[in-house]
Amino acid sequence: MKTETKCLHSGYEPKNGEPRQLPICQSTTFKYDSSDAMGRLFDLEDSGYFYTRLQNPTNDAVAAKIADLEGGVAGMLTSSGQASNFFALFNICETGSHIVASSSIYGGTYNLLGVTMKKMGIDCTFVDQNLSEEELAKAFKPNTRAVFGETITNPTVSVLDIEKFARLAHSHGVPLIVDNTFATPINCRPIEWGADIVTHSTTKYMDGHAIGVGGAIVDSGNFDWLAHSDKYPGLTTPDESYHGIVYAEKFGKLAYITKATSQLMRDLGSIQSPQNAFYLMNGLESLDVRMERHCKNAIAIAKYLKSCDKVEWVDYPDLEDDKYNSLAKKYLPKGSCGVMAFAVKGGREKAVEFMDSLKLITIVTHVADARTCLLHPASHTHRQLTDEQLKESGVAPDLIRLSVGLESVDDLIDDLKQALEKI
Ligand SMILES: *Cc1c(COP(=O)(O)O)cnc(C)c1O
Repeated sequence: MKTETKCLHSGYEPKNGEPRQLPICQSTTFKYDSSDAMGRLFDLEDSGYFYTRLQNPTNDAVAAKIADLEGGVAGMLTSSGQASNFFALFNICETGSHIVASSSIYGGTYNLLGVTMKKMGIDCTFVDQNLSEEELAKAFKPNTRAVFGETITNPTVSVLDIEKFARLAHSHGVPLIVDNTFATPINCRPIEWGADIVTHSTTKYMDGHAIGVGGAIVDSGNFDWLAHSDKYPGLTTPDESYHGIVYAEKFGKLAYITKATSQLMRDLGSIQSPQNAFYLMNGLESLDVRMERHCKNAIAIAKYLKSCDKVEWVDYPDLEDDKYNSLAKKYLPKGSCGVMAFAVKGGREKAVEFMDSLKLITIVTHVADARTCLLHPASHTHRQLTDEQLKESGVAPDLIRLSVGLESVDDLIDDLKQALEKI
């Protein structure tokens, strides 16, 4: 099936007489006829459902669709994008581990890696993702366990050179994890470029309608944990909490997701609710057509803003003269996403004045919605970061993040125009 078709048909295929639409299994638990049958599930000897904190059929159908869209072997849903990135990393890291991450990543993930995981004894070196391979290699240490980046960074819309990062990760014997939230598998499938694990905040384009917070993790099945068994004891040595199972031996290509589900989800419990998974399924059905329209509207708006006297600069990878245009052409040939960054002349003060003058476009702490919205990271999402950290992550104090929705582009330009006229 092509991607457009997968959006609609993958993950859930009703059999004769079954509901056409994915049923919501709104149940915490599942009934078995014998104690032994249930016991075998707890031993991971049989696969099946027993408690929704670990697995639920509605969630599994949606995870299977996302995994198929990304070209992975297995996937899982989490309660948020934050949970997906934490689980993706914590599944292969422990106290004493080290991560190499792009410094341009989403502010929430920057805090997760730089503050919270640091408290757990997991260190992170943040790197400028545009450095040469030789420069980037200096960030690796003997205890490095993962490399992390975003296909298109939030909010600076920088495009990651995925092949470069995959080569670097693999030459150091560690997997590359890519947060593909902004591109979605419609516009880029990082696994095809060498990424090993892909994560998502499904809250954004996948949901697409600002309904439910959620996340997803997809494993390519390509990373050979056993070949690096000294680095990944959690996957390659017996798990005493499951009678000594060795995930990589027992589950092969499914080891990574099986461990994340049966161990991390069991112990940390960040499952998406089946109801939210159902909403997500509906969002995914139209993902392909929505992404096409988001990109079409966004390039028109980026070009319009560029032509305005009162606009200082515009960053959007699909613009021919954008510094990421060649990477965008390579990795995102169908278009990047609906998000761009720009600044109005006059800095922080004028930015606020401009935003407050908009009528149709709303100020919300959200991005990648069907409705056009914007925010000012320095005074909203990134306000916890110091000026130095802001600079390091490339977020200028005057940067406005504009997330172009699915409205008529004429209405959007009219609104931008009248607000620009007011400043
Ligand atoms: C929003 C976002 C996250 C965090 O996701 P939540 O669903 O808000 O927890 C992670 N990565 C990227 C790129 C995001 O845009």
